[in-house]
Amino acid sequence: MKTAGHLAKHPTVLDSSTSEPSMFLLNSLSRFTRSARHKNAQNNGSSSNLSVSSHSSKKSSTTSSTHGNHAQRKQTPLYLRQPFISTHLVKGNFSTIVSLPRYIDRNEWLAINVYELFTYLNHFYDVFAAFCTVQTCPTMSAAPGIDYTWLDSNRKPLRLPAPQYIEYVMAWIENRLRDQSIFPTKAGVPFPSNFEAIVKAIYKQLFRIFVHIYNYHYPEILHVSLEAHWNSFFAHFIAFGKEFGLLDPRDTGPLKKLIDVLEFQGNI
Ligand SMILES: [Zn+2]
Repeated sequence: MKTAGHLAKHPTVLDSSTSEPSMFLLNSLSRFTRSARHKNAQNNGSSSNLSVSSHSSKKSSTTSSTHGNHAQRKQTPLYLRQPFISTHLVKGNFSTIVSLPRYIDRNEWLAINVYELFTYLNHFYDVFAAFCTVQTCPTMSAAPGIDYTWLDSNRKPLRLPAPQYIEYVMAWIENRLRDQSIFPTKAGVPFPSNFEAIVKAIYKQLFRIFVHIYNYHYPEILHVSLEAHWNSFFAHFIAFGKEFGLLDPRDTGPLKKLIDVLEFQGNI
């Protein structure tokens, strides 16, 4: 997926030392990425009544249903077991690098970090796209019995296959990142008054993708030995979300145990 050129438009923020762990993650990821997700999206679109091109007419859902199609998993998830839970690429506590740097505008800091997190999650998902299909993930399942749904233009909740839901989310977010009235890139143009609410809505959707990958694609993460990168990336995402109050505790339930462990371990 192509992304907006926000990076180049916030050079002063990018020059800060806080981008270092993320850039390392991105460089490490580059050898794994591929364009399979777009191919999957096209294939999935043709096998359902919904097409990727209808992104703009749809909005993200704030509801979830309770009829997951995935089999019940009663064992402790792999990502909560040793040694995986303690495997991190970046040592130390992310809270020290996500805080607002002196002389940086809060909204500018939110904008560049949300852009970066979106970009990196996009790269990560590319790695797993070939394994996240209509057949393997017929719903956007968060956990056994919990599906995320998407609201169509009439605000009717739709239960979409996970790859299609994720494709919609990424397009929905990218459209906002490219919208100059929401993420202004020209000097003197203010952020909208509801900017933080928009950032929270974006963060909520990104979190849902983390949930799906942790709960349904962690074996693939292990298969390509990305668990250290993935865990550190998630810790960075959560630490930033905590620092700026971007995540509602009502939404983080599916990964609450993991977040608790990251806090206990001193990662966030
Ligand atoms: Zn999936």
